[in-house]
Amino acid sequence: MFMTITTTGDAEKPATDLGFLLHKHPQKAQAFSTSHGTAHVLYPEATPERCTAALLLEVDPVALVRRGRGRGRGGAPDAALAQYVNDRPYAASSLFAVALGAVFRSALNSRCAARPELTEQVRPLRVEIPVLPARGGPELVRRLFGPLGWSAIEATPVPLDTRFPQWGDSRYVRLVLDGELRLADALRQLYVLLPVLDDSKHYWVAPDEVDKLLRVGDGWLAAHPEHGIITSRYLARSKRLTRDALERLELVRLAESDGSEVEELDDPAPRETPEADWCVPLAVQRRAAILDALRAAGAHRVLDLGCGQGQLIRALMGDASFTEIVGVDVSVRALTIAARRLDLERMGERQSARVRLTQGSLTYTDKRLTGYDAAVLSEVIEHLDLPRLPALEYAVFGSARPGTVLVTTPNVEYNARWETLPAGAVRHADHRFEWTRAEFRDWAGRVAARFGYAVDFVPVGPDHPEVGPPTQMAVFHRRETPASTTAPKEGNTA
Ligand code: SAH
Repeated sequence: MFMTITTTGDAEKPATDLGFLLHKHPQKAQAFSTSHGTAHVLYPEATPERCTAALLLEVDPVALVRRGRGRGRGGAPDAALAQYVNDRPYAASSLFAVALGAVFRSALNSRCAARPELTEQVRPLRVEIPVLPARGGPELVRRLFGPLGWSAIEATPVPLDTRFPQWGDSRYVRLVLDGELRLADALRQLYVLLPVLDDSKHYWVAPDEVDKLLRVGDGWLAAHPEHGIITSRYLARSKRLTRDALERLELVRLAESDGSEVEELDDPAPRETPEADWCVPLAVQRRAAILDALRAAGAHRVLDLGCGQGQLIRALMGDASFTEIVGVDVSVRALTIAARRLDLERMGERQSARVRLTQGSLTYTDKRLTGYDAAVLSEVIEHLDLPRLPALEYAVFGSARPGTVLVTTPNVEYNARWETLPAGAVRHADHRFEWTRAEFRDWAGRVAARFGYAVDFVPVGPDHPEVGPPTQMAVFHRRETPASTTAPKEGNTA
């Protein structure tokens, strides 16, 4: 099993940066033992102009059978010998994808400690796989890689036997992809699509494969026209897992069409603030105000709705009075970053039992969100199209119904104070609206009346005498008897 990745460059952007990106030194041949054999990484060519990395996987077919995992779908029924004599050692199958994921894990996750800026670089890339099992043939190969940004896709059938052309083609193709992409994106595509084309997963597909697929497919799978076949084949055609994955991809798509998928989550305010002496970033002041309000409400079990990359969760974890913290976001990418930043995997058991991250869309009711003391919507509502807002109001105030709800949003009046913000512009490209203080009070008052809450308003940041504070916060407290809480007309029970 063999694959090469080539990039070209010049003195300024040397091709040998590929070594940094892959975390494998171009001057060394390295070997790694993987669960199915030995993976070798070597560079047949490494100059500033052109650099090629090769990944070669030597599979141990006997070990594979001993582990009882050698039989893929499509093996001959009387497969005593076929278990030992098969294509596994030679073709870039699902085993190869596993090795690729293990050997190039950092590159796949866009991590590069030495040169972090490189991971975002779009580079000329050429991927060559001489023997790729492709159930569905060259046509499916083109359908799968076609929408993913490659400028040229070559999928040539490999003849069954060159001496006997009349025998026709094998089920293998030679694949060459050319294009300008980020290396991590290319690797993620291969990681998913090689086993999809192979269509005979060699290992037991556990439920966490769905999470893995969504993580690795983030940013390209939901919108891929062939996401159905990709999902089903990747999950070894398990109906239950495929349905689960497709539902979650649907959420991502919905959010993308809402435009609410947000990549840049860091608050732009601190850099742009005109107050020279204002040295505490607005985002920090906002978190402090939220924590104060939660403590004042006596909340212990808290939802962070639209938690983004988890900054508020981190702050909440620093206070032991918050015993359960659940972060919800529609963006898998944001949740992945949050999990990494919070280092949930390495946290002690007692700490990690307090925190949970979960994917969900706030415009759909979700039973898992009922019974909490408080919910925070920090800088979230303005990312929704106005017509979708009633669905969120119902899901949060009507269905989840926490004792306290905190909502923060920009105060548009304050924007005039931002010298760098052109008149009439919003603070963030994805903001669907920004409200004046009066508009926010009006909205919050209506929501409170409709769902049986009382509401107060708290300024966050310096409260300017004319234009008010940069961030406005509404603090809702549930009254004992709810007012009418019928679902909005659109109907949003998922
Ligand atoms: N609360 C964070 C992030 C705000 S950015 C903070 O204060 O910094 C807005 C976040 O809301 C993004 O992470 C976005 O993915 C999420 N979001 C937007 N629409 C959503 C929806 N319908 N359901 C769930 N999350 C949503």
